[in-house]
Amino acid sequence: MDDLHKIARAYHTTANEESKLQGKIFFERMDHDGSGGITIQEYLAYMKRKRYTKMANRPFFDYLNKSRTGKLDFMEVMTLFYIIKSGRKICDGCGGLLKGTFFSCTDCFANDDESFNLCSKCFTERKYVHPHKHFLDNYIILESMKVKLEEKEKKIRKMEEKIKQMEENEKKIRKMEEKIKQMEENEKKKGKKVEEKEKKIKKMVDPSKQTGASNAIVLYNPRRSPNVRANVLQAVVAAAIALSNCTIM
Ligand SMILES: [Zn+2]
Ligand SMILES: [Zn+2]
Repeated sequence: MDDLHKIARAYHTTANEESKLQGKIFFERMDHDGSGGITIQEYLAYMKRKRYTKMANRPFFDYLNKSRTGKLDFMEVMTLFYIIKSGRKICDGCGGLLKGTFFSCTDCFANDDESFNLCSKCFTERKYVHPHKHFLDNYIILESMKVKLEEKEKKIRKMEEKIKQMEENEKKIRKMEEKIKQMEENEKKKGKKVEEKEKKIKKMVDPSKQTGASNAIVLYNPRRSPNVRANVLQAVVAAAIALSNCTIM
């Protein structure tokens, strides 16, 4: 613990103004009565309120209270501030601060709020109660997490590629559908034209509905489009042939 007090002091003295102010605010919020020292009651109330539950106990308070005065002074609170800010982990067996190598439950590791960590002593002496069985030391777990992350990233990249491919395929399908639609419409138009032509021809050819070429002459209007004119001419020819056939018979 001495080391940590020293580290925290070094951090505080070399910190910039903003960090120093943050530390001051941290202390003042904990110092409920503004006496300049933190009692165990003030400490526990603050730690529970801020949900630092693993550190909200008498042994941890004593651990911080290096001066053994029963009240945390400013620098002792700065040690706590450093522990929190640096994300130091607490042993879930003995409640002590974890230093160097420690063991972490692999099932709980991903969930930072619920991570379960043990100091070497608690781990080897099995001084803990926990539902999971797989533990790895912090260095190996970090390494294996890195590998897992890389694998996940690879999978994500593959899936992204697949999605892209699928989107492109969908685009192609949409284009093809549009083409088919266009073709169907063209065919419909063609069909209508043919129907109209057939109707016209029928009219021309049907002897009961006409008086020979005179009808064709009525239909022949120079103001109509050349296409219509051509159709009419065709009809006239057809009618003439039909009529001549009639006379032959
Ligand atoms: Zn421990
Ligand atoms: Zn676990």
